[in-house]
Amino acid sequence: MNSLTKVAFIGAGNMAKAISIGLINSGSKPESIMVANPSAEKRLALANEFGIGQTDDNVKAAEFADIIVLAVKPHFINTVCTQLSQVNNIQNKLIISVAAGITVAQIQQALACQAGVVRVMPNTPSQLGLGMSGLFASLEVNAAQKSAADKLMKAVGEVIWLTSETKIDAITAVAGSGPAYFFLFMEAMQKQALAFGFSGEESRMLVQQTALGAAQMVAHNNIDISQLRENVTSKGGTTFAALEQFRENGLEQIVSGAMTAAFNRAQEMA
Ligand code: NAD
Repeated sequence: MNSLTKVAFIGAGNMAKAISIGLINSGSKPESIMVANPSAEKRLALANEFGIGQTDDNVKAAEFADIIVLAVKPHFINTVCTQLSQVNNIQNKLIISVAAGITVAQIQQALACQAGVVRVMPNTPSQLGLGMSGLFASLEVNAAQKSAADKLMKAVGEVIWLTSETKIDAITAVAGSGPAYFFLFMEAMQKQALAFGFSGEESRMLVQQTALGAAQMVAHNNIDISQLRENVTSKGGTTFAALEQFRENGLEQIVSGAMTAAFNRAQEMA
Protein backbone atom coordinates (compact mmCIF):
# COMPACT_ATOMS: atom_id res chain seq x y z
CA MET A 1 0.00 0.00 0.00
CA ASN A 2 2.33 2.76 -1.26
CA SER A 3 4.75 3.92 1.41
CA LEU A 4 1.83 4.03 3.86
CA THR A 5 1.91 0.48 5.01
CA LYS A 6 0.64 0.23 8.56
CA VAL A 7 -3.06 0.28 9.34
CA ALA A 8 -4.75 0.46 12.76
CA PHE A 9 -8.45 -0.17 13.26
CA ILE A 10 -10.06 1.51 16.23
CA GLY A 11 -12.99 -0.82 16.89
CA ALA A 12 -13.02 -4.53 16.04
CA GLY A 13 -16.55 -4.85 14.66
CA ASN A 14 -18.12 -5.68 11.30
CA MET A 15 -16.46 -2.89 9.31
CA ALA A 16 -12.97 -3.55 10.73
CA LYS A 17 -13.42 -7.23 9.93
CA ALA A 18 -14.64 -6.58 6.37
CA ILE A 19 -11.73 -4.24 5.56
CA SER A 20 -9.19 -6.56 7.24
CA ILE A 21 -10.36 -9.49 5.09
CA GLY A 22 -10.06 -7.28 2.00
CA LEU A 23 -6.58 -6.07 2.92
CA ILE A 24 -5.26 -9.59 3.64
CA ASN A 25 -6.83 -10.94 0.43
CA SER A 26 -5.26 -8.13 -1.57
CA GLY A 27 -1.77 -8.86 -0.27
CA SER A 28 -1.27 -6.78 2.91
CA LYS A 29 0.87 -8.49 5.53
CA PRO A 30 -0.96 -9.36 8.79
CA GLU A 31 1.88 -7.80 10.82
CA SER A 32 1.15 -4.44 9.14
CA ILE A 33 -2.37 -4.39 10.65
CA MET A 34 -3.39 -3.80 14.25
CA VAL A 35 -6.79 -3.64 15.90
CA ALA A 36 -7.78 -1.91 19.14
CA ASN A 37 -10.92 -2.65 21.10
CA PRO A 38 -11.70 -2.54 24.82
CA SER A 39 -13.45 -5.91 24.54
CA ALA A 40 -10.86 -8.74 24.58
CA GLU A 41 -13.36 -11.11 22.98
CA LYS A 42 -13.92 -8.84 19.96
CA ARG A 43 -10.29 -7.94 19.28
CA LEU A 44 -8.96 -11.47 19.86
CA ALA A 45 -11.56 -12.94 17.51
CA LEU A 46 -10.32 -10.65 14.73
CA ALA A 47 -6.63 -10.91 15.61
CA ASN A 48 -6.65 -14.71 15.84
CA GLU A 49 -8.59 -15.14 12.59
CA PHE A 50 -6.16 -13.06 10.52
CA GLY A 51 -2.93 -13.09 12.55
CA ILE A 52 -3.03 -9.31 12.99
CA GLY A 53 -1.84 -7.39 16.05
CA GLN A 54 -4.23 -6.42 18.82
CA THR A 55 -4.40 -4.15 21.85
CA ASP A 56 -6.91 -2.63 24.24
CA ASP A 57 -5.07 0.70 23.91
CA ASN A 58 -6.30 2.97 21.08
CA VAL A 59 -3.30 5.28 21.43
CA LYS A 60 -0.84 2.39 21.12
CA ALA A 61 -2.55 1.12 17.96
CA ALA A 62 -2.59 4.63 16.46
CA GLU A 63 1.11 5.16 17.23
CA PHE A 64 1.91 1.94 15.37
CA ALA A 65 0.10 3.03 12.17
CA ASP A 66 0.30 5.48 9.24
CA ILE A 67 -3.43 5.03 8.60
CA ILE A 68 -5.95 5.01 11.44
CA VAL A 69 -9.40 3.67 10.58
CA LEU A 70 -12.11 4.90 12.95
CA ALA A 71 -14.45 1.88 12.92
CA VAL A 72 -16.55 2.56 16.01
CA LYS A 73 -20.21 3.60 16.20
CA PRO A 74 -20.70 7.35 15.60
CA HIS A 75 -21.46 8.16 19.27
CA PHE A 76 -17.97 6.90 20.29
CA ILE A 77 -16.06 9.02 17.75
CA ASN A 78 -15.67 12.07 19.97
CA THR A 79 -14.25 10.05 22.89
CA VAL A 80 -11.93 8.06 20.61
CA CYS A 81 -10.62 11.16 18.78
CA THR A 82 -10.04 12.98 22.06
CA GLN A 83 -7.88 10.00 23.14
CA LEU A 84 -6.08 10.02 19.78
CA SER A 85 -5.19 13.71 20.19
CA GLN A 86 -2.47 12.38 22.58
CA VAL A 87 -0.85 10.34 19.79
CA ASN A 88 2.64 11.38 18.83
CA ASN A 89 2.69 12.97 15.35
CA ILE A 90 -1.08 12.51 14.88
CA GLN A 91 -1.26 15.46 12.44
CA ASN A 92 0.89 13.53 9.93
CA LYS A 93 -1.18 10.34 10.03
CA LEU A 94 -4.18 9.67 7.79
CA ILE A 95 -7.49 9.32 9.61
CA ILE A 96 -10.16 7.32 7.78
CA SER A 97 -13.63 7.50 9.32
CA VAL A 98 -16.49 5.21 8.32
CA ALA A 99 -18.77 6.67 11.01
CA ALA A 100 -22.10 7.81 9.58
CA GLY A 101 -23.00 11.46 10.14
CA ILE A 102 -19.68 12.58 11.69
CA THR A 103 -18.06 15.44 9.76
CA VAL A 104 -14.39 16.10 9.04
CA ALA A 105 -14.61 19.27 11.16
CA GLN A 106 -15.96 17.31 14.17
CA ILE A 107 -13.11 14.79 13.88
CA GLN A 108 -10.41 17.46 13.53
CA GLN A 109 -11.88 19.39 16.44
CA ALA A 110 -11.78 16.32 18.73
CA LEU A 111 -8.24 15.51 17.51
CA ALA A 112 -7.28 19.13 18.26
CA CYS A 113 -5.31 19.33 14.99
CA GLN A 114 -5.77 19.56 11.22
CA ALA A 115 -4.88 15.93 10.45
CA GLY A 116 -5.85 14.70 7.00
CA VAL A 117 -9.24 12.98 7.22
CA VAL A 118 -10.94 10.80 4.62
CA ARG A 119 -14.62 10.37 5.36
CA VAL A 120 -16.11 7.18 3.95
CA MET A 121 -19.69 6.03 3.55
CA PRO A 122 -19.50 2.29 2.89
CA ASN A 123 -22.39 -0.18 2.75
CA THR A 124 -22.96 -3.64 4.21
CA PRO A 125 -22.05 -5.72 1.10
CA SER A 126 -18.48 -4.57 1.90
CA GLN A 127 -18.55 -7.62 4.18
CA LEU A 128 -18.53 -9.77 0.99
CA GLY A 129 -16.07 -7.57 -0.92
CA LEU A 130 -19.04 -6.20 -2.90
CA GLY A 131 -19.30 -2.83 -1.17
CA MET A 132 -19.99 0.57 -2.71
CA SER A 133 -18.30 3.45 -0.90
CA GLY A 134 -18.26 7.21 -1.32
CA LEU A 135 -15.04 8.93 -0.15
CA PHE A 136 -14.34 12.55 0.67
CA ALA A 137 -10.84 13.84 1.49
CA SER A 138 -10.16 16.94 3.59
CA LEU A 139 -7.76 19.55 2.15
CA GLU A 140 -4.90 18.25 4.33
CA VAL A 141 -4.90 14.77 2.71
CA ASN A 142 -1.86 14.43 0.41
CA ALA A 143 -1.69 12.43 -2.84
CA ALA A 144 -0.02 9.36 -1.25
CA GLN A 145 -2.63 9.30 1.52
CA LYS A 146 -5.48 9.64 -0.99
CA SER A 147 -4.10 6.78 -3.01
CA ALA A 148 -3.75 4.65 0.15
CA ALA A 149 -7.37 5.36 1.16
CA ASP A 150 -8.51 4.46 -2.36
CA LYS A 151 -6.66 1.16 -2.20
CA LEU A 152 -7.95 0.40 1.29
CA MET A 153 -11.61 0.84 0.35
CA LYS A 154 -11.17 -0.86 -3.05
CA ALA A 155 -10.18 -3.94 -1.02
CA VAL A 156 -13.90 -4.24 -0.09
CA GLY A 157 -15.60 -3.07 -3.28
CA GLU A 158 -16.04 -0.10 -5.59
CA VAL A 159 -15.17 3.50 -4.75
CA ILE A 160 -16.40 6.95 -5.80
CA TRP A 161 -14.48 10.11 -4.78
CA LEU A 162 -16.59 13.13 -3.84
CA THR A 163 -15.58 16.76 -4.27
CA SER A 164 -17.96 18.04 -1.61
CA GLU A 165 -18.54 16.58 1.85
CA THR A 166 -22.32 17.08 1.67
CA LYS A 167 -22.41 14.56 -1.22
CA ILE A 168 -21.78 11.90 1.46
CA ASP A 169 -25.49 12.26 2.35
CA ALA A 170 -26.43 11.47 -1.25
CA ILE A 171 -24.16 8.39 -1.15
CA THR A 172 -26.02 7.34 2.00
CA ALA A 173 -29.37 7.73 0.22
CA VAL A 174 -28.27 5.74 -2.85
CA ALA A 175 -25.76 3.10 -1.74
CA GLY A 176 -25.60 3.21 2.08
CA SER A 177 -29.30 2.54 2.59
CA GLY A 178 -29.67 1.00 -0.90
CA PRO A 179 -29.29 -2.68 0.00
CA ALA A 180 -32.41 -2.41 2.19
CA TYR A 181 -34.43 -1.07 -0.78
CA PHE A 182 -33.58 -4.19 -2.76
CA PHE A 183 -34.29 -6.40 0.29
CA LEU A 184 -37.76 -4.84 0.57
CA PHE A 185 -38.45 -5.42 -3.12
CA MET A 186 -37.23 -9.00 -2.83
CA GLU A 187 -39.40 -9.57 0.25
CA ALA A 188 -42.47 -8.37 -1.66
CA MET A 189 -41.66 -10.70 -4.58
CA GLN A 190 -41.07 -13.57 -2.15
CA LYS A 191 -44.51 -13.01 -0.56
CA GLN A 192 -46.20 -13.17 -3.94
CA ALA A 193 -44.23 -16.29 -4.91
CA LEU A 194 -45.55 -17.92 -1.72
CA ALA A 195 -49.07 -16.80 -2.69
CA PHE A 196 -48.57 -18.57 -6.05
CA GLY A 197 -48.00 -21.77 -4.04
CA PHE A 198 -44.20 -22.13 -3.97
CA SER A 199 -42.59 -23.31 -0.72
CA GLY A 200 -40.55 -20.90 1.42
CA GLU A 201 -37.32 -22.43 0.14
CA GLU A 202 -38.45 -22.31 -3.49
CA SER A 203 -39.68 -18.71 -3.14
CA ARG A 204 -36.37 -17.59 -1.70
CA MET A 205 -34.37 -19.34 -4.41
CA LEU A 206 -36.59 -17.92 -7.17
CA VAL A 207 -36.20 -14.35 -5.91
CA GLN A 208 -32.54 -14.59 -4.88
CA GLN A 209 -31.36 -16.08 -8.16
CA THR A 210 -33.47 -13.68 -10.22
CA ALA A 211 -32.06 -10.65 -8.37
CA LEU A 212 -28.50 -11.98 -8.66
CA GLY A 213 -28.96 -12.68 -12.38
CA ALA A 214 -30.43 -9.22 -13.02
CA ALA A 215 -27.56 -7.49 -11.15
CA GLN A 216 -25.00 -9.55 -13.07
CA MET A 217 -26.67 -8.66 -16.39
CA VAL A 218 -26.31 -4.99 -15.50
CA ALA A 219 -22.67 -5.53 -14.47
CA HIS A 220 -21.75 -7.53 -17.59
CA ASN A 221 -23.58 -5.53 -20.30
CA ASN A 222 -22.29 -2.06 -21.01
CA ILE A 223 -25.67 -0.72 -22.10
CA ASP A 224 -28.29 1.41 -20.34
CA ILE A 225 -30.32 -0.38 -17.69
CA SER A 226 -33.47 0.92 -19.44
CA GLN A 227 -32.31 -0.89 -22.62
CA LEU A 228 -31.89 -4.15 -20.68
CA ARG A 229 -35.47 -3.72 -19.43
CA GLU A 230 -36.80 -2.96 -22.91
CA ASN A 231 -34.98 -6.03 -24.30
CA VAL A 232 -37.11 -8.29 -22.07
CA THR A 233 -40.40 -6.42 -22.51
CA SER A 234 -42.59 -7.21 -25.54
CA LYS A 235 -45.58 -4.94 -25.98
CA GLY A 236 -48.69 -6.71 -24.72
CA GLY A 237 -46.66 -9.51 -23.07
CA THR A 238 -46.36 -10.66 -19.44
CA THR A 239 -43.47 -8.37 -18.40
CA PHE A 240 -45.24 -5.46 -20.11
CA ALA A 241 -48.38 -6.17 -18.02
CA ALA A 242 -46.35 -6.15 -14.81
CA LEU A 243 -44.40 -2.99 -15.67
CA GLU A 244 -47.65 -1.16 -16.54
CA GLN A 245 -48.84 -1.91 -12.99
CA PHE A 246 -45.62 -0.44 -11.55
CA ARG A 247 -46.04 2.67 -13.72
CA GLU A 248 -49.71 3.16 -12.91
CA ASN A 249 -48.91 2.91 -9.20
CA GLY A 250 -46.09 5.48 -9.42
CA LEU A 251 -43.06 3.28 -8.70
CA GLU A 252 -40.60 5.95 -9.90
CA GLN A 253 -42.10 8.62 -7.62
CA ILE A 254 -42.12 6.16 -4.69
CA VAL A 255 -38.41 5.38 -5.20
CA SER A 256 -37.50 9.05 -5.66
CA GLY A 257 -39.51 10.03 -2.54
CA ALA A 258 -37.92 7.26 -0.45
CA MET A 259 -34.38 8.20 -1.49
CA THR A 260 -35.08 11.89 -0.83
CA ALA A 261 -36.36 10.95 2.65
CA ALA A 262 -33.09 9.06 3.33
CA PHE A 263 -31.05 12.06 2.06
CA ASN A 264 -33.01 14.52 4.25
CA ARG A 265 -32.62 12.27 7.29
CA ALA A 266 -28.86 11.98 6.70
CA GLN A 267 -28.63 15.80 6.57
CA GLU A 268 -30.65 16.14 9.81
CA MET A 269 -28.34 13.63 11.54
CA ALA A 270 -25.11 15.33 10.42
P1 NAD B 1 -19.73 -2.71 15.33
O1 NAD B 1 -20.61 -2.42 16.50
O2 NAD B 1 -19.77 -4.06 14.70
O3 NAD B 1 -18.20 -2.43 15.74
C1 NAD B 1 -17.79 -1.36 16.54
C2 NAD B 1 -16.75 -1.87 17.52
O4 NAD B 1 -16.21 -0.76 18.22
C3 NAD B 1 -17.29 -2.83 18.58
O5 NAD B 1 -16.55 -4.03 18.54
C4 NAD B 1 -17.07 -2.08 19.90
O6 NAD B 1 -16.73 -2.97 20.98
C5 NAD B 1 -15.90 -1.19 19.56
N1 NAD B 1 -15.74 -0.02 20.42
C6 NAD B 1 -16.66 0.64 21.16
N2 NAD B 1 -16.09 1.66 21.84
C7 NAD B 1 -14.76 1.63 21.52
C8 NAD B 1 -13.65 2.43 21.91
N3 NAD B 1 -13.78 3.46 22.74
N4 NAD B 1 -12.45 2.13 21.39
C9 NAD B 1 -12.27 1.09 20.53
N5 NAD B 1 -13.30 0.30 20.14
C10 NAD B 1 -14.52 0.56 20.62
O7 NAD B 1 -20.02 -1.58 14.24
P2 NAD B 1 -19.75 -1.63 12.64
O8 NAD B 1 -20.95 -2.20 11.96
O9 NAD B 1 -18.42 -2.18 12.36
O10 NAD B 1 -19.78 -0.08 12.33
C11 NAD B 1 -18.63 0.73 12.61
C12 NAD B 1 -18.81 2.06 11.93
O11 NAD B 1 -18.98 1.83 10.53
C13 NAD B 1 -20.03 2.82 12.42
O12 NAD B 1 -19.65 4.15 12.70
C14 NAD B 1 -21.00 2.77 11.27
O13 NAD B 1 -21.72 3.99 11.14
C15 NAD B 1 -20.09 2.59 10.07
N6 NAD B 1 -20.73 1.90 8.96
C16 NAD B 1 -20.86 0.54 8.97
C17 NAD B 1 -21.44 -0.10 7.90
C18 NAD B 1 -21.51 -1.61 7.88
O14 NAD B 1 -21.67 -2.14 6.78
N7 NAD B 1 -21.38 -2.31 9.00
C19 NAD B 1 -21.95 0.62 6.81
C20 NAD B 1 -21.84 2.01 6.84
C21 NAD B 1 -21.21 2.65 7.90
